[in-house]
Amino acid sequence: MKESVEIKELVKISQYAGSDILLVQGGGGNASVKSRDKRKMWIKASGFRLSEVTDEKGYVVTDLRSLVSLMHSKKMNHKEFSGGLKLSVIGDSTLRPSMETGFHAVLPRVVLHTNPVYVNAFACMEDGELAIMEVMNQEMVWVKYKPPGFELSVEVDRVCRGYSELNGHLPPDIILRNHGFIACGDSADKVISSTGKFVDAGKRFFGELHSDALLCTGPPDKLVKWAGEMEKSLQEHFKQISYFARATKYSTLLDAALDVEMLLESGPLVPDDVVYYSGKVLPAEISNSSEKWISTRPGPLPGRFIIAVEGYGVVFVGPSYKTIDTMEENFLANILVRTLISGRGSIRSLPPDEIETILNMDAEKYRQALAAKDV
Ligand SMILES: [Zn+2]
Repeated sequence: MKESVEIKELVKISQYAGSDILLVQGGGGNASVKSRDKRKMWIKASGFRLSEVTDEKGYVVTDLRSLVSLMHSKKMNHKEFSGGLKLSVIGDSTLRPSMETGFHAVLPRVVLHTNPVYVNAFACMEDGELAIMEVMNQEMVWVKYKPPGFELSVEVDRVCRGYSELNGHLPPDIILRNHGFIACGDSADKVISSTGKFVDAGKRFFGELHSDALLCTGPPDKLVKWAGEMEKSLQEHFKQISYFARATKYSTLLDAALDVEMLLESGPLVPDDVVYYSGKVLPAEISNSSEKWISTRPGPLPGRFIIAVEGYGVVFVGPSYKTIDTMEENFLANILVRTLISGRGSIRSLPPDEIETILNMDAEKYRQALAAKDV
């Protein structure tokens, strides 16, 4: 019965972040709570959105001591790490803990990792470190960019241990360069208030987004028809690949197509941008027939991509409408982060070699899913 305290806290922080698209998008972000005796950790399971975590589902219980010794094992590598994560699950759950479980294990009792638009504007801006220091009036713990999963977890651990040696305790808040934010502390209320404090700092520094930033007006009829034809043509053309297409509903992304050049240049800022649209936006005109568009594309099409239809809006193409929802939320966040930065500084996109690393990781995951007949 005592365990329900931890589950309650996990649900509280998951629902807090999961209900706000400016805090997490799609299946991004993660939350965890450790037992007071440091034996167990409850953490959101892979494949769930934070908003889907409830008393009964969406999380796994892990053996905290085995995770901590895994993190501190000298001979740890990618393979050991994923094997160790799977083995750490207590009970007969078939769910998997997220690849980011490693850093949750070595941080304080309650951890809420989000990708807040207002904080990522600092994390994806040149000299974001100085900007946030200026507005918060305190020194911040930054973790340099590392690919998500094993390498990021090791780097968070390294930075936090260094901090702890100097200060006698782990840091309460951490900014992950080109990735996101981690709030940690002793209670759910503490991490919720820290997250809010940093979001407010972003609002003070960058100014608030336009009140229509999250408005869903729905796409114009012409774009809906164009997306429908594109979906049909892709399905006919590539029978062995699952393709669906949908026009955006967000007015921000409909308006963004007025400046197609900006959209074409809007490369990935964070790893999820690479995972969900390979970091590329492809141009099209409404007068292009979908057949002609497909046949004149140089090179193969990826499994997920975004088309900017000049003057009309954005169309998402992916393996399911569920994936498209996630792509849309991620891309909206990307554009909003760019909007915030544009008034105060210059954008720091993900470097090309880091994009390549994630693309390779993603391909590997896809191959594994194929082998398991999961897609
Ligand atoms: Zn993350």
